[in-house]
Amino acid sequence: MKAPAISGGREACGQRPDALACELIELGGVVQGVGFRPFVFRLAQRLGVQGWVRNRAGVVEICATAAPDVLENFRTALLAEAPPAARPERRTVAPGEFTGTGFTIQDSASGDAIQGLPPDLAPCPDCLAEMAAPGRRHRYPFINCTQCGPRYSIIRALPYDRANTAMAAFPLCPACAAEYKNPADRRFHAEPVACPECGPRPRFGALEGEAALTACLKALRAGRVVAVKGVGGYHLLCDAADETAIARLRARKHRPAKPLALLLPESRLADYVVANETALAALRAPARPILLLPQRPGLPDVLAPGLSELGVMLPDSPLHHLLAEGFGAALVATSANRSGEPMVTTEAQAEAELAGIADAFLHHDRAIERAVDDSVLRIIDGAPRILRAGRGLSPIEINLPCTLDRPVLALGGHMKSAITLAWGDKAVVSPHLGELDSAPAQAGFTRMVADIQALYGVRAEVLLADAHEGYASTRWARAQELPVETIWHHHAHASAVAGEHGMAERLVFTWDGVGLGPDGALWGGEVLLGRPGQWRVAARLRRLRLQGGDAVSRAPWRSGAAMCWQAGIAPPEGLVPDALAQTAWMRGLNCHESAAVGRLFDGAAALLGLCQTASYEGQGPAMLEALAGKLPDAAPLPLRLVDGVWEADWAPLVPMLLDATLPHPERAARFHAALAATGAEMAQCIGANLAGLAGGVFQNRLLTEALLARLRGAGVTAHLGRAIPCNDAGLSFGQVIEFGARQWMK
Ligand SMILES: [Zn+2]
Ligand SMILES: [Zn+2]
Repeated sequence: MKAPAISGGREACGQRPDALACELIELGGVVQGVGFRPFVFRLAQRLGVQGWVRNRAGVVEICATAAPDVLENFRTALLAEAPPAARPERRTVAPGEFTGTGFTIQDSASGDAIQGLPPDLAPCPDCLAEMAAPGRRHRYPFINCTQCGPRYSIIRALPYDRANTAMAAFPLCPACAAEYKNPADRRFHAEPVACPECGPRPRFGALEGEAALTACLKALRAGRVVAVKGVGGYHLLCDAADETAIARLRARKHRPAKPLALLLPESRLADYVVANETALAALRAPARPILLLPQRPGLPDVLAPGLSELGVMLPDSPLHHLLAEGFGAALVATSANRSGEPMVTTEAQAEAELAGIADAFLHHDRAIERAVDDSVLRIIDGAPRILRAGRGLSPIEINLPCTLDRPVLALGGHMKSAITLAWGDKAVVSPHLGELDSAPAQAGFTRMVADIQALYGVRAEVLLADAHEGYASTRWARAQELPVETIWHHHAHASAVAGEHGMAERLVFTWDGVGLGPDGALWGGEVLLGRPGQWRVAARLRRLRLQGGDAVSRAPWRSGAAMCWQAGIAPPEGLVPDALAQTAWMRGLNCHESAAVGRLFDGAAALLGLCQTASYEGQGPAMLEALAGKLPDAAPLPLRLVDGVWEADWAPLVPMLLDATLPHPERAARFHAALAATGAEMAQCIGANLAGLAGGVFQNRLLTEALLARLRGAGVTAHLGRAIPCNDAGLSFGQVIEFGARQWMK
């Protein structure tokens, strides 16, 4: 639907007094699809500004005429009073010309690419209040306005008009159409506007509307697993207090130990987790992420076995709000997909693929145009950090420190895949795509490559890929006709921090699980010095010889045994289930060298008996962190210079980890403390005053906060990714920075 030209005043050919000034103001950022033009209209009316506002090529253009002091107030209010879902940025202010009177909203030019695509947003306070009150939208599960509701998940094509969204299937009723057309209404040009008369409705078996919700709640109370269609895909829900139901869900999903997140009304939050003000603000934000928070004591271990934190989420849509409030207690909410595959989004797919997992289905008839998983955050170093970007946060739009000479598409890594499209001084990071092992996951990746370019109207001229030729993303790049530039894994990690926090020379700890290094070895314990485009290894952890190829990451016992053998200490009894493993290790059969700190965490978890075989990625390290008590003061591991690189030897950790006189939590704490002390010692030896932390290891709050404290205590300014995840989901952004630096740093 095109925006009609709306007049806010009498059109006339009047003479303006000479005291009036006219300006042409251009605003970028997130200003389209968020009620920005009606906001400008109302502001102009209030301040007596004349002129017009329109959308053009991803920006909002405003022609404003008023006395100079009024214009100044107008410009300030444009940024200061913008609607909550908007993120306007001032671009330019130039002299303008206006001969009419009044203020109008002009037609938007079609065919322009949106820049500043709004993500899906949780219901705003106005809509929640309207949903609770008697009236047309009382308890309507798809209520929304310009400040809330689905966006990214329902857009089919640009421009962002209702006809180009999943809402095209729902012709507006007269009442909704009137709101949509009224510039004074909060639903003026709210593209997904709907009511029970004309909009989507929920369905449970043969039941619709309120009856469907009632039946769904009844099934949940009876301990059944219900697949519920949400904003970006289906979730599996069950009663979080019903251990039998949870055990059944775990068995059916083949997910014995991976932590399950909870969906709950805010009134029940304190029963489950400890949330401070920072946590509450993150939970209540319109993105409604899953936030990992410390568990209350006494909760059943079945929710997050062996862990001390729990992922919790407040309702992210009106439908989830009604379910969570109606249930009145916590529900387990986990993405309904087969392991390693994209989220299920259609009714047919749900009924087919979840037949053996869900007992019942709550569908609705608003199509999901693209799967978007829940975002996952953790508070580290006082701020929420993104572990997984998805619904509500994606796509992540971020300005580049410099301008690219041509558009590029960076394809990221292989695990925690996400891609980044970048052009000019803009970068857009896609939602989480997951591991690229399975054919459906690779199909999802290919769809995203096409989708993100179509959505932003930008075609990449160069592909950026990880230097590991075995990664599915790199293999895909090689099969295209575009030129491919490869970027080393840990250079991309380091450049991701630099791209977000500053391009000056710095030391970056690139500690993760695995990644191919320029010398052909597997890296993951390196400390790089330099700047994008010019990284060199300044320090590293001693390399560990690992036997078993790709099986190593799911078998922490292999890392534990290798640490023992390499340190010349016999592994504890029962650690090595495979009698041939030691012979193979000694002979170097199917062995590789790795400096990865992630493997040391695996090894430590195995040596403490926490996790010999992992059923999900990162299980051992997560359990080791959960076990550790308060970190003691620790001495750094021994450092020596080898060919100009400071190398730390982890071997002294092995007898400590096996020391039966120390309680297990004490050993886990000492392990963390020693690594933090070692990192700080490395920075001292190298002599840096600016540092960054990048790589999946820094999802570990204990280690990260201890290392940051040590670095800062020594006068080093240190950063951790904030808009960009520190794990492999941040690689594609780092690849863009690394590639760009080859132009910028000449
Ligand atoms: Zn709203
Ligand atoms: Zn309606």
